[in-house]
Amino acid sequence: MFFRSARRLVAQLLVLCLLTSCATTNVPPISAVGQGFEPTRDETRLWQNSREEERKLLEKVTIYDDPLLDDYLLAIVGRLNPPAMAANPLISYRVRVIEEPTLNAFAYPHGSLYVHTGLLAQMENEDQLATVLGHEMTHVENRHMLRYQRSARNKQVGLFALAVAGALWAASESAQAARRGHYGKAARIDVLSDLLIGLGLQLAFVAAVNGYGRELEREADEGGFTKMQASGYDTRQAEKVYQKLAEETSKPSKIEAFFFGSHPRIEERIASAREWGRTHPSGEARQTDAGLSTFEKRLRPVIRDDAALNLDLGRLGRAEDELRRALAMEPRDPRTLSLIGRLKLAQAEQTDGEARADLEAAAQDAFQQAIEIDPRDPTPHRELGLLAYRRGDGAFACRELRTYLDLSPAGAEDRTKIRDYLLELERDGHCR
Ligand SMILES: [Zn+2]
Repeated sequence: MFFRSARRLVAQLLVLCLLTSCATTNVPPISAVGQGFEPTRDETRLWQNSREEERKLLEKVTIYDDPLLDDYLLAIVGRLNPPAMAANPLISYRVRVIEEPTLNAFAYPHGSLYVHTGLLAQMENEDQLATVLGHEMTHVENRHMLRYQRSARNKQVGLFALAVAGALWAASESAQAARRGHYGKAARIDVLSDLLIGLGLQLAFVAAVNGYGRELEREADEGGFTKMQASGYDTRQAEKVYQKLAEETSKPSKIEAFFFGSHPRIEERIASAREWGRTHPSGEARQTDAGLSTFEKRLRPVIRDDAALNLDLGRLGRAEDELRRALAMEPRDPRTLSLIGRLKLAQAEQTDGEARADLEAAAQDAFQQAIEIDPRDPTPHRELGLLAYRRGDGAFACRELRTYLDLSPAGAEDRTKIRDYLLELERDGHCR
């Protein structure tokens, strides 16, 4: 019995070895092969799996819908992409933005790149964006998922075991955060554990959370620098991206900083980026024409909208920072002003006395400015109305809440609640 099953086991291991573990991790980058590039058999399977996984991912996450931004990101990718990589007919890049205020980006091996709104909102210029995209593109071009998978199999550590370990870790972090009362934070992390546990998105786990290991991550960094330099980007900006991530990882919410993988190494990476910058001449930071640069025009909406996500999570510091930047780029965007109003209200709730009154006044100001620019947006009317209600200014509250009901779509979630307020105001004779 034992003997027979042992023999079967040996046979199975042998087959497994033939299929996988004997495969070399020494594969050339796609750009080194160029037009004649053909995926290996296990690579074809890997691409199929990653397309399958991507479909599940897309059902789960919210894609940030901004064709101008997508276009801009793809143009940067096009500029970074070496001609020999662009020449292969089998892989072309596609970039999508995920509505997530966390600092992350990842790539599927068949060329799908993902960037979170949270990471985009932290970028200060196109060269920093190129740092992120160049790194992710190198994972694809240098076939890191294939190499990772082969080496993981060689070491008999299945991707699945890693994924489960990661999911358990994320789930326990999430539970701890919830116990500490950080529900917003827990909700964030749950998106990730959902992906890992519910869907078993092993490739996303490796690409987005675990990283590909020290050697391949370093290769991705250097591949990114090389592409940046070849296309005239300022590689000195790479160091700033890493520094930002280092700051993020030093905060208590370190779980969110996944981009570039393992955290203890971040200092080493800052140093190697600096060293690379020293030894390679670099493009100047690209200066722009008068007015807003293309970078600012394309990124401003996502910086603003990421602030809304942070507001919902109660991450007021991050939201304030983003709104300040969005406002500096465009002082008359009613949505930015409306969000600033919401921020001030949230800040007011955390204090009292004079400070609270000041913040509420600032909120009122911001909502009124938003209305002056766009009187058809219902949200600031609702907020002004509720503020007035709390203050005891019934007539004003009545007018604004009525305007809100006139303007908001029939399916708006809070219409019933607002109607209740109005009924009460009418009953008490405030709505003449
Ligand atoms: Zn990476």
